[in-house]
Amino acid sequence: MEIDLSAYKSNIAFFTKKLFPTKLMAVVKSNAYGHGAVEISHAAIESGVDRLAVAFLEEALELRAAGITVPILVFNYFNPRYAVEALKNKLTITIYSRRQLEEIKKHIPSGLKVHLNLDTGMRRLGPDINNALELAIDISRTGYDLEGVYTHFAVADEKKEQFTLAQVLIYKKFLEELKKARVNIKIRHIANSAGALRFNESIFDYARIGVASYGLQPSEEFYIDELMPVLTWKSVVSYVKKIKKGDSVSYGRTFIAPRDMTVATIPVGYGDGYNRGLSNKGEVLISGKRCRIIGRVCMDQFVVDVSHLPQKPKMGDEVVLIGTQGEENITAEELAKLLGTINYEITCAITSRVPRIYLRRENLT
Ligand SMILES: *Cc1c(COP(=O)(O)O)cnc(C)c1O
Repeated sequence: MEIDLSAYKSNIAFFTKKLFPTKLMAVVKSNAYGHGAVEISHAAIESGVDRLAVAFLEEALELRAAGITVPILVFNYFNPRYAVEALKNKLTITIYSRRQLEEIKKHIPSGLKVHLNLDTGMRRLGPDINNALELAIDISRTGYDLEGVYTHFAVADEKKEQFTLAQVLIYKKFLEELKKARVNIKIRHIANSAGALRFNESIFDYARIGVASYGLQPSEEFYIDELMPVLTWKSVVSYVKKIKKGDSVSYGRTFIAPRDMTVATIPVGYGDGYNRGLSNKGEVLISGKRCRIIGRVCMDQFVVDVSHLPQKPKMGDEVVLIGTQGEENITAEELAKLLGTINYEITCAITSRVPRIYLRRENLT
């Protein structure tokens, strides 16, 4: 994998400008959507981002161990007995239930920095508006610093705006309630990538930008031209051979050659996160041309048809799995579509076996 940090920075610059005065919280969970959390976090900070967010405490600890000192918000559950790690490492935790608050209190009686997650329609984490005020007051009384309140959109990526606007209204109503109860909140945040691109009139102090910062399209229903893909996934040809009409290829003999063919083997498989669902479906680029996968994707390799290439490829030739080669381009979105999933899952799935190489192109802004 080549990770173009200049492209990442250009996406951050695009959002910084578009959302001003709202600031960015760079979401780097799941190893920065597969791109490498430490390097991406450094690039975000170099671009002026002053806050990061991850799903799990362990992810935040990895960033602290790498010398990253900006505030880091942890979105998700952690075992309450590790609250001491959150405090020691100056992490900001999410509180989403009374039960969780009570458990954490047993370990850390005061001093934690907290954001409260309000449920406005996602029904995943957090109290609804009828139960949230009491929890907010309790958090403050505990002697925790209730710095922020946030919520999360369920359908910001869809054309219909009604549900998202209703979520914004509930959130605003809760902010009013907090004000009346004299609970002072410094940081309010509501939007993910899709939300930030569409609802910039009401996105408050921070936007939590994940997918779009990696140049991945946040929605199937609208396309953002300015986003630059950050990731290129390459391999090489390991072997080329001729096969005969009627020969089968790979496990399960799911492909039978309809004619004599030239085929190439690529040393990548589902052990690298190249989805087995792409068997007999996916394409790769060789010599700037699309080559179809034939037979099943194995753990460490798969085979493609190269019969149509004007020049027979040879061992060591570049193969592009995601990215551009010559005039052709394969996107994470294209693979997602073939697999009936979203681009997020394609890049998150790329395993640690695939080396990440970080590029800094100074001529880009
Ligand atoms: C993952 C996540 C985000 C980022 O969403 P994108 O669609 O990738 O921009 C924001 N907020 C929360 C709570 C998340 O879990």
